[in-house]
Order: sequence, then structure tokens, then C-alpha cells
Amino acid sequence: MTIRTRFAPSPTGPLHLGHAYSAMLAYDLAQAQGGTFLLRIEDIDTSRSRPEWEAQIYDDLAWLGLSWTQPVMHQSDRLPDYRDVLNTLWQRGLIYPCVCTRRDIAASASAPQEGTPLIGPDGIVYPGTCRQKTAAQGSLPDNVALRLNMRAAHAALGDAPLTFTEIGAGPNGETGLITIDWRHAVEGIGDIVLARTAMGTSYHLSVVVDDAAQGITLVPRGADLFDATAIHVILQRLLSLPTPAYHHHRLIRDDAGKRLAKRDDARAIAKYRDDGATPQDIRRICGLP
Ligand code: GLU
Repeated sequence: MTIRTRFAPSPTGPLHLGHAYSAMLAYDLAQAQGGTFLLRIEDIDTSRSRPEWEAQIYDDLAWLGLSWTQPVMHQSDRLPDYRDVLNTLWQRGLIYPCVCTRRDIAASASAPQEGTPLIGPDGIVYPGTCRQKTAAQGSLPDNVALRLNMRAAHAALGDAPLTFTEIGAGPNGETGLITIDWRHAVEGIGDIVLARTAMGTSYHLSVVVDDAAQGITLVPRGADLFDATAIHVILQRLLSLPTPAYHHHRLIRDDAGKRLAKRDDARAIAKYRDDGATPQDIRRICGLP
């Protein structure tokens, strides 16, 4: 099997060192085995995505010495594909509409009888208020958030072990064959949103559908996404899609040890370029050869 890796930035701000690390690692891993490195622009959040950031991404990646196979996939072109997948999940009774606001969820999760709200990969674990609407009636509803019914997903997949191969390491050093714990999925992840009202999809749904559409065999990305991988593997199984291997890498931190965010423009690749750094300097800072 030839290796296919990808870098999947959202064009919502400048690429910083953490992005450069992910991109160079994905490129190097593909190159080392004569494989293919692909790019995907994750622009489903149209309120924050900007063409000028996309242009800057191409410019920065080319400056870093990377090249990628054309065409570049854009998630904004793929809304009908996401809708098809949601429709399948809907017909199988695995998703349900949710009308709760963030405030409703926070209030209901912190009601005195609930104890301390549980925090999952997407924030507060949804307390299940709208779950009884699961039974699919009629066609897939529009303009409403859709949540995965994690209990129904468990029932559909049964108790066969769900695993993925970790080539890098999770935040606590998790590596090798990782088994997903259903109890954690149901209680600690819960009914995550698969389609947001304004987008018609979500990061989790799109990333799974698109990694499969691009034939990705290895996903290099930051260790902050390690916990979300359980969601991705569950979706892959529900949709009969292959599970790639994952290479979660350490996060590049600032001098104070804080992880970098898009707003940390001081760490933007463009800023390093302006300051006279070379691509080799960026590789060295990221610990890459
Ligand atoms: N667009 C996501 C990000 O920039 C990609 C995450 C992933 O690689 O799965 O964080």
C-alpha cells in the first residue's frame, strides 16, 4: 500500500509553527516512502475562512519547500457529500436534531443533580436533552444541528474492539494499537454534533469523509486531536470507511510553555520569514531533520 498523507489547514488565520510542523512531518513521511502528500483546505466555517489566508497557506508551504498533488480539496465544495452521509446516518436512526443552545447545555449539565459537568473533546458532554427525537421520521431535517446518538452507535457496532494504530503518541504517551473504550465514548464523549446549523456539517464528519475520499493512509496532526480520534474511528466504522493510521505529534509551545494558537501571530511562519529565518531554521525549531 502506498502511503498517502495530508495536511488539512483551516484558512482562518496565519500558519504558525505548529502547522508548519504538521505539514512538514506529513510531507517527510510521504517522501520517505515514495508516497503522496495531499492538501485539503478545511473551509466549512465560511464566517471565518478567507481567500487571503488560503493564498498565504500556499505561499508559506511552498516557501517551506513542500509540494503537493493537485487538485487541492476544498471542504466548501463537498457539502452535498456530507449531506449524503448525514442522510445515511439519519435513515439508520443514528443522528437526531438538537435545538439546545450552548447556554441550555451548560445549564442542564450543571444542574445540581448532575454533579460536575463532564468535559469531552468538544467541551461539555451533551446531557442528552433532545435524544428522544432519534427515531428518523421523514427526510433529514434542514437548518438544525444534528447529533450522533452515541448509544445507538454502540448498539449498531456491538462490542467488537474498535482500534486504530498510533505511530506517534497521544498526550499521555499512548502509542501502538489503541483500543477505544465504549464506556468512555458513551459517557465521556457523548452525543457530539455532526452537523452545525450554519454549516450543514462539522469538523468531525468532514474530516472522516474527506480522509476516506482522499485515500489517506496516515494522518499526522497535533496531539490535541488524539482524543477526537475515537470519534473519527467510530464514524469510520459506522460508515464502513477505512481507518488510517495516525501520527499525533507534540505541540509546539511558546517560550512560556503555552500551546500556540492562530492568534499568536508572533509565531506565524510569515513573521519568521520577514525576520529573515530560513526553512531550515523552521525545521530545526520543530525538531525535524
Ligand atoms: N483543520 C483542522 C485544523 O486545522 C485539521 C485537523 C486534522 O488534521 O484533522 O486543526
